Amino acid sequence: MNDDIRVPVSIPLDSDGFIRRECPNCEREFKWFSHEEGDANAEVVDQYFCPLCGAGAGTESWWTPAQLEYMHGASGPAIDQYVQDSVETMFKGIKGMTVKPNRSFSFGIETPDALAEPDDMMIAEPPCHPNEPVKVPDGTAKVYCLVCGNAFAV
Ligand SMILES: [Zn+2]
Ligand SMILES: [Zn+2]
Repeated sequence: MNDDIRVPVSIPLDSDGFIRRECPNCEREFKWFSHEEGDANAEVVDQYFCPLCGAGAGTESWWTPAQLEYMHGASGPAIDQYVQDSVETMFKGIKGMTVKPNRSFSFGIETPDALAEPDDMMIAEPPCHPNEPVKVPDGTAKVYCLVCGNAFAV
């Protein structure tokens, strides 16, 4: 069995549509604008630059520890369901065999409470890529563009 288990986990955005991120280099938090899927305004990149320190990293390297923990926890019930479904499918074709799913089966991972995203930080819009605004901690004077890494003053 080598199926890909896709677990839909939604990470909350703040009321302006920004998602919290943590830089893998300087470990400080900022937010970037979360474009809708298929948004023509979204830059297609294979790495982003940290607005705070300017270091680049792959697009999947920016989860905050709270988000990782949340995704780990939230995927538990989905994996349970996946295992349950596979077992049921396996026995469905056998005549005279009744499958009584045992819904209490669990890996023992509890579903965490939903994450909350406060409306903190200030918006900074890179002059080079105004379609990719970021939010940085109040008082930040210099910000790097998420897409190209160019520094600009806020
Ligand atoms: Zn950084
Ligand atoms: Zn730019």
